[in-house]
Amino acid sequence: MISFADARQHVVDRCQRLSPRLVPLDAAAGTVLAHDVVAPEDVPPFANSGMDGYAVRSADVADATEEHPVRLRVAGTIAAGEAPHTAVVPGAAVRIMTGAPIPAGADAVVMVERSTRVGDDQVDLTQAVPAGLHIRAAGGDVAAGSVVLTAGTLLRPAHLGVLASVNVRTPTVVPRPLVGVLSTGDELVDDGRPLAPGQIRESNRPTLVAACRAYGFDAVDLGSVPDDRDVIADALRSAAGSCDAVVSSGGVSMGDFDLVKVVLDDLADMTWMQVAIRPAKPFAFGVMATDRGGVPVFGLPGNPVSSLVSLSLLGVPGLRTMAGRTGNDVDLPSVIAMSEQAIQGKADGRTAFVRVRASWDEGGVVVEPVSAQGSHQLAATSSANALAVLPDGDGVRAGDPVMLVLLHEPF
Ligand code: AMP
Ligand code: MG
Repeated sequence: MISFADARQHVVDRCQRLSPRLVPLDAAAGTVLAHDVVAPEDVPPFANSGMDGYAVRSADVADATEEHPVRLRVAGTIAAGEAPHTAVVPGAAVRIMTGAPIPAGADAVVMVERSTRVGDDQVDLTQAVPAGLHIRAAGGDVAAGSVVLTAGTLLRPAHLGVLASVNVRTPTVVPRPLVGVLSTGDELVDDGRPLAPGQIRESNRPTLVAACRAYGFDAVDLGSVPDDRDVIADALRSAAGSCDAVVSSGGVSMGDFDLVKVVLDDLADMTWMQVAIRPAKPFAFGVMATDRGGVPVFGLPGNPVSSLVSLSLLGVPGLRTMAGRTGNDVDLPSVIAMSEQAIQGKADGRTAFVRVRASWDEGGVVVEPVSAQGSHQLAATSSANALAVLPDGDGVRAGDPVMLVLLHEPF
């Protein structure tokens, strides 16, 4: 058996970052920025008002109080989107809206809540304001010429707004890998027909396609293939021809008809592993040579729970490496939680990934194992949102800390 850490590292070392490309902003969420972005312009582009109110010379309102307002002449009004037109001369103010440029002469804004209009062209102001109050400086968010986002940044929603704010409309990013998902097995039925003796419903592809997408990759469903060497070989070759990576399920354990590992051995630089984890011990990983470069193939075990766990623990680090993520960021996030109840472990030389439900409780994360832990019991696993990591051994006692790998947001 190979340790989980070594298996994961084997995968990460053999998956290469995809070539960066220009993408429109609305396709960039969740991708990794390939280059530093230097701001070509200031944000905000000009000094503007942070409040609806009156642009003033601070010296004019130095003595203003609630009891003794200062009366100024209103020289004009300026809205967001207008070029500054009316200068503020001593004794005058300009009515100004949030986001409107600060007129010449003004050095502060008194908010409208501290004003009372007097007739058409005068205003009483009840607040003394220091110079600069409620003025948002040009470049106060981003200065032109500065590095606003660095290469390697995973683009979250606000990053897209930042790029838009500096007029970067097609950032250069590492694209999401396109993952071709196929399943193998003579027993699989996926078209709704009644089951003949020995047949079962295909369930891995819907899970794996959706999981790939949920983890941030593009995925395409490539169907299922029978346990036939030639058909499997054709399917893998064609998948590698059209996708950046291939995920297959089934056919990698010790059965007489587990042919994926046999075929992969012919087609790819393949390593067949017995990973010291439970579930998902068998795992085949290879890189198929194509004219577009090496295409990683993840041969996951067929049991429905195992294939999902294998994708989450060994597939994700490889695919995220292709997507430009590095370090621990290639793994699903993990947190320390408290186990409300004892979780039985086993001393069998393997790390167990127990399917649990994590929830937020009075300031801490608590976990409860789902009702059934068999690698064929997907229904029970479907209510899990995390994997509790149990080192080889007795397990954890109630109240003990336990590490969780988060399959999706638990809160
Ligand atoms: P295998 O890894 O091919 O030996 O399959 C292990 C177990 O998982 C067997 O019981 C298979 O019938 C089952 N299995 C394999 N592929 C699928 C699938 N796509 N959907 C549901 N069950 C599967
Ligand atoms: Mg099979």
